Amino acid sequence: MAYVITSDCNNCGACEPECPNSAIKAGADIFEIDPNACTECVGFHNEPQCAAVCPVAACISDANRVESELSLVEKARRLNPKTKIPQEGFPSHFSKK
Ligand code: SF4
Repeated sequence: MAYVITSDCNNCGACEPECPNSAIKAGADIFEIDPNACTECVGFHNEPQCAAVCPVAACISDANRVESELSLVEKARRLNPKTKIPQEGFPSHFSKK
């Protein structure tokens, strides 16, 4: 599932530069995540980086957007064609569970 930023966001901007997919942008009121560009950091990191750096825990998984690890890594490859993401053993929070 994609991540989403809740109204707890205090606009600190810590998350934006951490996203490997450039999915985070400043919105009208708070920062926003483009769900079509969020891979839950699968393919790049073992934990969602926005959630890891958010000082107010405003980056959470969106239960309305459930996606499999396979679909997320395929999305990561599609969004980042110049990045070599291995077929197996790629960074993923799924492998931590
Ligand atoms: Fe970007 Fe990862 Fe946060 Fe998704 S979970 S918005 S890919 S930093």
